[in-house]
Amino acid sequence: MKFFGRNDNTCDKCKQKFKTHEELIRHARHDHHHVIPKCAECGKEFIHEKDRLHHAKEERQKKLSKRGID
Ligand SMILES: [Zn+2]
Ligand SMILES: [Zn+2]
Repeated sequence: MKFFGRNDNTCDKCKQKFKTHEELIRHARHDHHHVIPKCAECGKEFIHEKDRLHHAKEERQKKLSKRGID
């Protein structure tokens, strides 16, 4: 059993489900006045700050490994 199948776009606060992550973000921002953390590199938006941090780390590693191959 994998635990990765959990990225259905469900709102933490009201358990409403959305088809896309973008819709969930729009909902959280509009209905809950949730501050959406944004990646400074690519502008991608995240519901949780920890998701953004994880993404930023991955992006940094990608960059580093690219530089390594070169
Ligand atoms: Zn909600
Ligand atoms: Zn990014």
